[in-house]
Amino acid sequence: MLTIAVSKGRIYEDALPLLAEAGIIPVDDPKKSRKLILDTTREDVKIVIIRATDVPTFVEYGAADLGIAGKDVLLEHGAESLYEPLDLKIAACRLMTATPKDLTELPRRIRVATKYVKTAQSYFASRGIQAEIIKLYGSMELAPLVGLADCIVDLVDTGNTLKANGLEPRDLITEISSRLIVNKAAMKMKHAEIQALIDNFKQTLASR
Ligand code: AMP
Repeated sequence: MLTIAVSKGRIYEDALPLLAEAGIIPVDDPKKSRKLILDTTREDVKIVIIRATDVPTFVEYGAADLGIAGKDVLLEHGAESLYEPLDLKIAACRLMTATPKDLTELPRRIRVATKYVKTAQSYFASRGIQAEIIKLYGSMELAPLVGLADCIVDLVDTGNTLKANGLEPRDLITEISSRLIVNKAAMKMKHAEIQALIDNFKQTLASR
């Protein structure tokens, strides 16, 4: 039995065609069902639906053999405890800093609102910028508008969310896409099944 951890939403939707090419089609639709463990058309494969930030934790502890997680989440989690064999090139976006559109100069010591605390800390430290990081769990765009922060660090895709809130992207921190991650023990114990799945994903990606 193989268990794959995936988060609902963009990553799940983008992963479906890749999984289908490997013969893995979920029997239930997580948008309609409240089930957290989905059977699939492959008897030996189950999908668990969890929060994006929990995917590396489930895989690290072996509660799932494999997972699909954004690079943003992996950077924040730390990836030493996991294998990351494949860039699935799905749910692509950019991790960026953003500030109010009309801002010309940032203060010497900036306040940054983000859910990516570790990534933001090391980014600003590497550039010698003094930054106080304020952890938020959502709606980061609001922080500069209400004076909570000078700057945010968030994922940007079309840029529409920033624009709608009077913000604009500034610096690219890193390009983001979803990665296949594998539990280290499972990689040894279930090597043949997992390697077959990795090869299948690789083939599908190569033909795109
Ligand atoms: P956009 O308005 O298209 O730039 O999208 C930005 C919003 O969508 C932000 O709230 C992001 O956190 C979220 N977002 C964009 N791309 C992704 C992604 N690949 N995975 C998860 N969230 C994303």
